[in-house]
Order: sequence, then C-alpha cells, then structure tokens
Amino acid sequence: MRIAFLGLGIMGRPMASNLVKAGHEVSVWNRSARQHIDGARAAVSPAEAARDAELVWMCVADTAAVERLVFSDDGIEQSLREGMVIADSSTISPSATLRFAQRVAEKGAQWIDAPVTGSKIGAENGQLIFIVGGPAETVASMEPLFKAMGKTVIHVGDTGKGQSAKICMNLQIAMIYEGFAEGLTLARKLGVAPEKMVELVQASMIRSGVVDYKASFVLRGDYSPNFPLRLMHKDIHLLLDTAKEARVKLPALETVDEIYELASEEGWDDLDYAATIQLLEKWAGLGGPTK
Ligand code: NAP
Repeated sequence: MRIAFLGLGIMGRPMASNLVKAGHEVSVWNRSARQHIDGARAAVSPAEAARDAELVWMCVADTAAVERLVFSDDGIEQSLREGMVIADSSTISPSATLRFAQRVAEKGAQWIDAPVTGSKIGAENGQLIFIVGGPAETVASMEPLFKAMGKTVIHVGDTGKGQSAKICMNLQIAMIYEGFAEGLTLARKLGVAPEKMVELVQASMIRSGVVDYKASFVLRGDYSPNFPLRLMHKDIHLLLDTAKEARVKLPALETVDEIYELASEEGWDDLDYAATIQLLEKWAGLGGPTK
C-alpha cells in the first residue's frame, strides 16, 4: 500500500520503519530534519508526501501539530481525494478530532483516530496497542497496517472515541505513577529500601504495568524520555479541558497537574514523566534512590 507517514519522533520513527519492513511503499515527512528512514522516500511537505498516497498516517505531538499537518498551506488537505484515509496516532483532543474529521469528509476522506499505548519500547518492537475510533469497515480494512506496527487493536466506537478512551487511560497512568511515587518516597523516608518496596508492590494486589515499566528506571535514577513529561502534561491538560466540556470534575488530576507544573518549572519537560518523583524526593530531603 502507498502510505504517507508524518511525524518521526520517538513513536513515529519506529512506526514508519515497521511499515517499510512490512513491504509498504512509504513516503515520510518530519517538521525538522531527521527525515531519513531506510527504505522510505523523504517528502518536502505533508501535501507532497500525501500526493500519491492511499492512506496518511500521522504521529505528532499535539492538537495544534495535527491541525498544522492537515490544514496549513502545505497540509495534506491539498492532496485529499475521495476514498483516502487519514489515521491519527497522535494523542489529541476528542472534540478537535470530530471537527477535523468533518472537514476532511467534505473532500471524501475518512478520519480514523488511532492513538496508541505501549510507549517507545512497544513502538520499536511492533507491539503497540491501537485504541481506535471510526467506521468499522475502514478499521477492518486497516488490519494489515495495525499488525505491522502493533499487537492489538481495540475498536472503541465511532470517530473520536479512540481519543476519548486514550486520554482516560492516561489519566490512570498519571495517577497510578503518582501513587507509586508518593508511596515509594514516604517508604524511603521511613527507612524502607526502595527495592523491597517495589518487590512488595509487585507481589501484591496493587501490582501494575505502570510500575513494571517504570520501577527499574526509577531505581536507577534514569529519567531519559520514553514518554516525555511535556507530553503527559499535555495529556493532563487535554483531560482537564475535555472534562470541563463534559461537565465532569477531576479533583485528583488537578492536583497532579500542579505537580507537573512545578516539574516543568524545574526544566524537566524533556525528561520522562517518571522524573516527577524527584520533586517528592526534594521536598522529603532525599536524594534519588541510587544516591
Ligand atoms: P516526540 O518524540 O516529541 O515527537 C513529536 C513529533 O511531533 C515530532 O515529529 C515533532 O517534529 C512533531 N511536531 C511537534 N509539533 C509540531 C508542529 N507544530 N508541526 C509539525 N510537527 C510537529 O513525541 P512522541 O513520543 O513521538 O509522541 C507522539 C504522539 O504520540 C504524542 O501525541 C504523544 O502524546 C503520543 N504518545 C506517545 C507515547 C510515548 O511513550 N512516547 C505513547 C503513547 C502515545 P520535530 O521532530 O520537528 O520536533
């Protein structure tokens, strides 16, 4: 299949690469340099990448970035034709997704929201989980592409429902991690070895995939980005805005947002979101677990 892939960041680069490996004809575009993917053609603009494509796949930072890729002067809107599919694996606003889908429908194109979970390691290993919104027939026709990049497709419902489910999932990731971080910090202050605390957590009913993924990084004090703090912070804002639109209160998430604000002021935006634990350690008068 002829695919344009736009956005070659932590997630997009390995996703595009896996499409090439699965035998698809891929053209790629990225805002800054870092355009090269072995076996793919580097395009000069989103519109040019999409010109001969049957399907456009995007994975960029946020709602504004998606809007730029699709609707700016050199955006893919210029290249849309009847029957084209746009798949969006960025995590963006559910309500903006609906607006974007309506606009491209005027040109006969379909919008599939397909945000992902699995982080950097899942993207590299082709083990992502796709959380999908859009017409069932189109989603089914994309099966070989999902398979090339992931292990599971959960078709949540119609357009926008993938994004809605994805942000509600990230709400829980942020809170589970914060609970782990606060528990670990207090335990350390009380003299419990962090490795023992992790062992206990993972042996008990509070074990979690979040702790599975993050504990070894935290114990090593390694906050190199798998899921950058600035992106989780972006998702927290998406959640608070979406909750406001839906007239839902999220008081615990508002508190977590304050922690992310402070972490951002510390200059940690490009570290992994697990770095938020460093604030708790600082307030507790502790160094990192490895210190
Ligand atoms: P990333 O490494 O920061 O990459 C972001 C990408 O978006 C880059 O290609 C960047 O281009 C592009 N971009 C940012 N602003 C843009 C703009 N205004 N116009 C055009 N392009 C723009 O992020 P990532 O980790 O790959 O995440 C991509 C999406 O997947 C995000 O929505 C994120 O929330 C979601 N996600 C990430 C993870 C994860 O663990 N990393 C997991 C699940 C979902 P440049 O290279 O030019 O900066």
